[in-house]
Amino acid sequence: MQTDVLIVGAGPTGLALANQLARFGVDLVIIDHREGTTPHSKAIGVQARTLEIYDQMDIAESLVSKGWHAEKVRLVGGGEIRGEIDLRSIGKGMSPFPFLLIVEQGLHEALLYDHLKESGRDVNWLTELLEFSQDEAVVRAIIGAGEGRKEITAKYLVGCDGAHSLVRHSLGLKFEGATFERLFYVADVEIDWEYSHDALHVNLGDDTLTAFFPMVGDRRWRIVGTFPEGHEKDPNDILFEEIEHQVSLDTSLKFDITKVNWNSVYKVHSRAVERFSVGRCFLAGDAAHIHTPAGAQGMNTGIQDGYNLAWKLAEVMKHNAPVSLLDTYNEERLPNAKRLLNTTDRLFDFAASEEWLTSFLRKNVFPYVANFALSFEAVKRFVFPLVSQIGISYRESSLSEIVGSFSVTAGDRMPWIEIEGRSIYDDLHAPVFHLVVFSDGKVEIPPLPDELIQRWNGRIDSHFYSLNDKAIETFGCDHTFFIILRPDNYIGLISDQLSPELIENYLSRFE
Ligand SMILES: Cc1cc2nc3c(=O)[nH]c(=O)nc-3n(C[C@H](O)[C@H](O)[C@H](O)COP(=O)(O)OP(=O)(O)OC[C@H]3O[C@@H](n4cnc5c(N)ncnc54)[C@H](O)[C@@H]3O)c2cc1C
Repeated sequence: MQTDVLIVGAGPTGLALANQLARFGVDLVIIDHREGTTPHSKAIGVQARTLEIYDQMDIAESLVSKGWHAEKVRLVGGGEIRGEIDLRSIGKGMSPFPFLLIVEQGLHEALLYDHLKESGRDVNWLTELLEFSQDEAVVRAIIGAGEGRKEITAKYLVGCDGAHSLVRHSLGLKFEGATFERLFYVADVEIDWEYSHDALHVNLGDDTLTAFFPMVGDRRWRIVGTFPEGHEKDPNDILFEEIEHQVSLDTSLKFDITKVNWNSVYKVHSRAVERFSVGRCFLAGDAAHIHTPAGAQGMNTGIQDGYNLAWKLAEVMKHNAPVSLLDTYNEERLPNAKRLLNTTDRLFDFAASEEWLTSFLRKNVFPYVANFALSFEAVKRFVFPLVSQIGISYRESSLSEIVGSFSVTAGDRMPWIEIEGRSIYDDLHAPVFHLVVFSDGKVEIPPLPDELIQRWNGRIDSHFYSLNDKAIETFGCDHTFFIILRPDNYIGLISDQLSPELIENYLSRFE
């Protein structure tokens, strides 16, 4: 068996990567030792940036229709409601998906899987990666299915094989970080109680946090929480009754759990790999970084790892871009993973620390000021980009170049604006580079050399817009400028110097 890319693992990261590679027309094989997609609810928070990516693949609306928008958070304490946070306008004007989508991982994976099958590819289920080796030309992997073993040769291998990644271990990469002392629990249940099914309910205890997420279905809720420090039991020995008891103890709420669909107790880690790639092998998703569940970031980050890697692999294999382009995957995604670990750790510390001042602020101040704080535009503009992942930027990347002065810079995601009532993203679905010109109509835009246009035929498209007030405000530039967007719609080059040589020079790094 031979392929261009062997993907190990068909969790959300592997499935999303396979779909991206299929979008670029790259030959791939994807394997997983499970027998199919997960039936469980697992990761339920889908961020705006993930939906923007799915929009390019035409599956965003379908996923949105399977879930629920988190529009309200009720803060609970001592058995009563202490505050309410209105999330309805938190991302307004920043994304076509200005909300957190709550949808269960089982439905999410099934959608990604169906989409992959529509492209004529399928996952090799019940197939396990056993070992692999690589040299300068290829990766040779031994895979096992049932009693049989066979060799598969691939140009590249991507380990999307989760937290216990065999790929990571085999590459000898360290996975540094920490394991939290406390045990976490998660339960997908049906509850009878007085609270309406329209808001996320969060209980801020002395040193515990308990969250209730409404799920699609009658009286269905996801409960997530922590046992206090010092709860020494083996997670496998903890019965649901102990979780129920802990929820009752921490929240003082009156509830009746009438059905348990799924539950799990686990230890949480905060770790990142030292490098995202070695030679022809790459890591993505939980294989490369794992977080606390605070902020619903883990799965979304894995999906974006794949989004960053897919176009680079495609450029190298289909258009002979220099192999060094693949080094920018580690260059861009490693600092992002480290930053994220920092943020989720701090969020988690605030949410569940027993340190007296943090505990006091969390219980007695935060519930009363949170909604007020979020009514400020500046707070929204800080919080939403951070949590929704639309604020991820590769400003320091060697692929980012800026000429002139702008408030958006090279390495940032293409900001979302509307032009004459239409989303600019509607023009940017094609998996190619995009030349985007905002013209004030005062200067003539010099033509690109014919030879460049021919050489790049099919690899770049172009879009011309009049410079409107929204574009001036968003980009911080009141005269003609242009952008070269990478195929993942991050800004590669932004310039107000209208020079064809600048464009030619920038593009030459991909030739
Ligand atoms: C309770 C809970 C709630 C969470 N909530 C959120 C949330 O709201 N939002 C969010 O973003 N994240 C959340 N997360 C994190 C999220 O679940 C993970 O980050 C995500 O599942 C990682 O996806 P992955 O594809 O990288 O890895 P996994 O989902 O672990 O998938 C790895 C796949 O690789 C396969 N595999 C492993 N080894 C091999 C091998 N040798 N050969 C073949 N196949 C192999 C496995 O069978 C598996 O299918 C949550 C996690 C938990 C536990």
